[in-house]
Amino acid sequence: MTTAIVWFRRDLRLAGNPALERALRGHARIVPLYVHAPHEESPWEPGAASQWWLHHSLAALAENLRRRGAPLQIRRGDSLAVLQDAIHESGAEAVYWNRLYEPAAIARDTYVKHALKMQGTEAHSSNAHLLIEPWDVATGQGGPYRVFTPYWRKVRAALQPRPPAAAPERIDGVTIKGDVPLDALDLLPRIPWDTGFSAAWQPGEAGAARALDDFCDDAMRGYAEQRDFPATTGTSRLSPHLHFGEIPPQQIHWRLDELGRERGERWREAAEPFLRELGWREFSHHLLYHFPQTPQENLNPAFDGFAWREPRGDELAAWQRGRTGIPIVDAGMRELWHTGWMHNRVRMLVASFLCKNLRLHWRHGARWFWDTLVDADLANNTQGWQWTAGTGADAAPYFRIFNPVTQGERFDADGAYIKRWIPELSRHAFKNIHAPWKQPDLLARSGYPEPIVDLGETREAALQAYQSR
Ligand code: FAD
Repeated sequence: MTTAIVWFRRDLRLAGNPALERALRGHARIVPLYVHAPHEESPWEPGAASQWWLHHSLAALAENLRRRGAPLQIRRGDSLAVLQDAIHESGAEAVYWNRLYEPAAIARDTYVKHALKMQGTEAHSSNAHLLIEPWDVATGQGGPYRVFTPYWRKVRAALQPRPPAAAPERIDGVTIKGDVPLDALDLLPRIPWDTGFSAAWQPGEAGAARALDDFCDDAMRGYAEQRDFPATTGTSRLSPHLHFGEIPPQQIHWRLDELGRERGERWREAAEPFLRELGWREFSHHLLYHFPQTPQENLNPAFDGFAWREPRGDELAAWQRGRTGIPIVDAGMRELWHTGWMHNRVRMLVASFLCKNLRLHWRHGARWFWDTLVDADLANNTQGWQWTAGTGADAAPYFRIFNPVTQGERFDADGAYIKRWIPELSRHAFKNIHAPWKQPDLLARSGYPEPIVDLGETREAALQAYQSR
């Protein structure tokens, strides 16, 4: 009877999990192991909101495994040392895991694989996180893509829906000594700022499946039209589930294809723009893999000498806590603080305001998002910030500066989103809730701040800085 270790990382699910499938196919007994080693992800250790998610997702995984007869083994320390101890104790002959694509994870996994093989333990890694591996797509010249449309055309043509493996009904689990209780990982915040999170989310595999079902039943048909309106539930909210691997993109692709066959051509067409957004996730991973310096550095070196400003006074804190006096920006930042998530359109607006109106380096924003987003993802976050700042691949040009007032009027015409997140403004009858400073008396009574900058002047200053790069 041979034994294998399944090393769970950000693939916190039992269905469609290639590492688990392969281990079960080749071995009779399994050690399901999670090693808590945030130091190995430095300088991008999971932020506070991600840790909240991780705690609950691990709890859900542990419960799923326990019901199948294989309690999750949780350990802290250096991954290799913990794996070696677990191999020694369980007599495991092989270790299985699913691949990650962050530079620090790649370096760690390469080292672990080499060390295990040297000691005579089999080490198998699989793709469970992406529709296509970043190294399997290349331009005609053989290099990485920097532009999304041709990248997606190529990837889309190659995609084949494949049914995911069902979760195993029973697993013959092996327990090892030295169990660390989940609470001892200290993942939950000491100051309870996460009260809104539980109402907004159900971390874990069941929550992911439910989010996909709800989205396919309710919002998919109108996705292309509704996805830009932050007051509606027009998007899937699958991002944290995807980040933690509670649902693989292959399973989503398969489900879209299956429902397309059941519900007909119109539904299939409606699903295509959504699949394309999953394509942006693939593209972000392609970029991070090929340009691993980009979480710190501009992808476009033409911006290396750009005259970013240093934060002055409490302007960065005003942005972080939704006190800039620009309603759509503040609504987004408050949504983020309360729920750990922000609508994509608003992410672009708050990022544009930071990088262009405040002219602060995009890294300030990326770091804050990293700590506060439940879906904080190095590939997507880096790409999102560099895209909005104009420094990235296929980016919005720097000189295209969002006007938060007209954007608000267009995408939140009745102000429902503003009113939801900024109660001070909801209590007064502003003629235009997106520009409340135009009624100074009412603004003073509301208690909402005046704008920390003049939108027109800062726009001009940003354009001048851009021209004199
Ligand atoms: P849906 O519209 O339902 O899309 C489905 C899935 O496609 C998403 O869950 C996500 O995995 C992927 N996706 C959608 N849009 C994008 C995109 N523009 N780039 C890459 N993948 C995308 N997304 C993250 O997952 N983590 C981040 O840390 C992150 N940081 C961002 C920072 C900025 C400044 C910007 C502008 C965008 C960022 N995004 C990030 C992308 C996007 O905002 C979120 O993926 C999306 O809002 C998640 O909501 P959803 O699941 O309802 O999306």
